[in-house]
Amino acid sequence: MAQFETVEVTTDLLIIGGGMAACGAAVEAAHWAKKHNLKVTVVDKAAMDRSGAVAMGLSALNQYVGMDAKGRSPLDYVKYVRNDLMGIARDDLVYDIGRHVDGSVHLFEKWGLPIWKDDEGKYVFEGPWQLMINGESYKVIVSEAAKNAMATLGANGELYERIFIVEPLMDGDRVAGAVGFSVRENKFYVFKAKAVIVGMGGAVHVFKPRSTGEGFGRSWYPPFNTGSSAYFTLKSGCEMTCQEVRFIPVRFKDAYGPVGAWFLLFKSRATTALGGEYMVERRPELENWKPYGLVKPIPANLRNYLMMLDTQEGKGPAYMRTEEALGKIIDAEPDEKAKKKKMKEIESEAWEDFLDMTISQAILWAATNTSPEEKASEIQACEPYFIGSHSGASGAWLSGPEDLAPPEYFWGYNGMATVKGIFCAGDASGASSHKFSDGSHAEGRIRAKAAIAYIVDNPDQPKVDAGQVDQLRKTILQPMETFEEFSGLTDNADVNENYIRPQQFMYRLQKIMDEYAGGASTQFATNKPYLDRGLELLAFLKEDSEKLAAEDLHELMRCWENVHRMWQAESHVRTVMAREETRWPGYYFRADHPKMDDANWKVFVNCKWDPKTGNWEIMKRDVIPMEG
Ligand SMILES: Cc1cc2nc3c(=O)[nH]c(=O)nc-3n(C[C@H](O)[C@H](O)[C@H](O)COP(=O)(O)OP(=O)(O)OC[C@H]3O[C@@H](n4cnc5c(N)ncnc54)[C@H](O)[C@@H]3O)c2cc1C
Repeated sequence: MAQFETVEVTTDLLIIGGGMAACGAAVEAAHWAKKHNLKVTVVDKAAMDRSGAVAMGLSALNQYVGMDAKGRSPLDYVKYVRNDLMGIARDDLVYDIGRHVDGSVHLFEKWGLPIWKDDEGKYVFEGPWQLMINGESYKVIVSEAAKNAMATLGANGELYERIFIVEPLMDGDRVAGAVGFSVRENKFYVFKAKAVIVGMGGAVHVFKPRSTGEGFGRSWYPPFNTGSSAYFTLKSGCEMTCQEVRFIPVRFKDAYGPVGAWFLLFKSRATTALGGEYMVERRPELENWKPYGLVKPIPANLRNYLMMLDTQEGKGPAYMRTEEALGKIIDAEPDEKAKKKKMKEIESEAWEDFLDMTISQAILWAATNTSPEEKASEIQACEPYFIGSHSGASGAWLSGPEDLAPPEYFWGYNGMATVKGIFCAGDASGASSHKFSDGSHAEGRIRAKAAIAYIVDNPDQPKVDAGQVDQLRKTILQPMETFEEFSGLTDNADVNENYIRPQQFMYRLQKIMDEYAGGASTQFATNKPYLDRGLELLAFLKEDSEKLAAEDLHELMRCWENVHRMWQAESHVRTVMAREETRWPGYYFRADHPKMDDANWKVFVNCKWDPKTGNWEIMKRDVIPMEG
């Protein structure tokens, strides 16, 4: 096998990931690190300008509390999030992000992000909490600011791109850094750090996607994030929360185009082909999910569920009634000239909404001769994703802010996981969803401040055992050795009894999750026997992960991406199994416990993998709401 150089980097704060949370962390870390003469190192598996879920751009900032603009309080936002999560949320964490998010939005504007304004110069809201933006360069702008901030540290600010982080480094019960490899050069990286901020996003392609064959690779969640945050925190022994709370968005079918602008800005209706308007006709069903079902806005999972009830009865396809919505807007104009002008304006807004963030949807419309003003478009529930920053809630269980957290939620540093020195933000932190892109940025800023405070209080560099590093290097590069050793034994490198290639491994994982853990093909339903069988099959998959083979560096990354997905999968299955109720129909349905059970299950279900014993533990934690 080709020789790999080992590159060692010693730093104070290591920020892993280059997405929204990491960019926020970098900006804030630079400020505090300068004061204390500390070094900050950022590592991204991709190029930060276009990495993570915002790579393609976005058309809205989904969290704006509007403390000045609307006179609202972060507590108003807490109430919205708590209800959307069917009562299960960490109010202290949500409040903390809420009181800082407007600041991130104002920074974005200062850095050059065009936010829509009305004639009076006020922000244009898409919905109650969302601001419209021209966001095709959103990530480039945010990343430029992060790089500029890091540059002010001189030699004490380092950015490494195209390094895939695989494993945590530990010094007993304290994090000591991370190891990974370059996806472009034969280099193995050892980052030694006093504290680590985990910002490697959520996970996609854990479940079989609806887009297979010709469409494979299309998904709502961009394919870059593969469960690395969950893996890193699980493997270091962190307690995790809400691993059962996956997210299933309803989106334009096949190209996964966003629906927010249609529902909120254009006020479009959704109907099924035979069943009329499910949000109206199925309304009595919401009684079964009270109090959450009766509050506005209706939780995202319940909106999904009402649509699913119709499609499961064979009343599909479901449609976004674009033609009707645009027609209504045009009809409101007083004369023909104004109608024409309005039509041009909203037509371009409709297309731009896709071009800003899901270009493939615009291409699909063009390819299928779809004019939204003439014809409705199909919508559908996607496959499940793990995105704790959006409408899911999976992630690490964190200490809250000192001034807000009850004692049960506080252990010293704001945003620190249950392992010393690990801080988590964005999709990596749990039970604090609906922070979206700008809230993730704000959370990154909060974490960086706390992580630097932790480093100041704990200035000694954790010990890194050379034997631990050697063993990790061997394990991480093993798939390349395996391929080299055995690939010549057959004339088709895909068919070989000595190894499994990463794509085959991923298909197996996706099939297990789809069929046993409530994927799209089982209408998102599962039960204990299915989950038991799923765990059994996951155990075989785990055994076979030692036989993964990689032809090159790119495949080596694919191998480890899939191992990370597999751990995300296992924690999900275990937690879905532990929670013996159905709380989020529309995200998943426990057919053996089809009702919500507030008396027994209005709690967090947390899980933890013990690095010493290799055993999993499941624990209940109280939900402690703030006032209001
Ligand atoms: C389709 C879609 C539409 C959305 N629409 C909106 C919207 O309209 N408005 C809004 O405000 N929010 C929106 N969001 C939410 C927003 O994108 C996320 O909340 C936000 O990006 C989360 O930030 P993050 O830093 O946790 O993850 P990301 O921004 O995804 O960043 C993750 C980072 O980790 C890196 N990484 C991953 N694995 C590794 C590894 N092993 N080693 C090193 N680096 C790694 C990635 O390269 C990336 O830099 C949307 C999300 C999706 C998926």
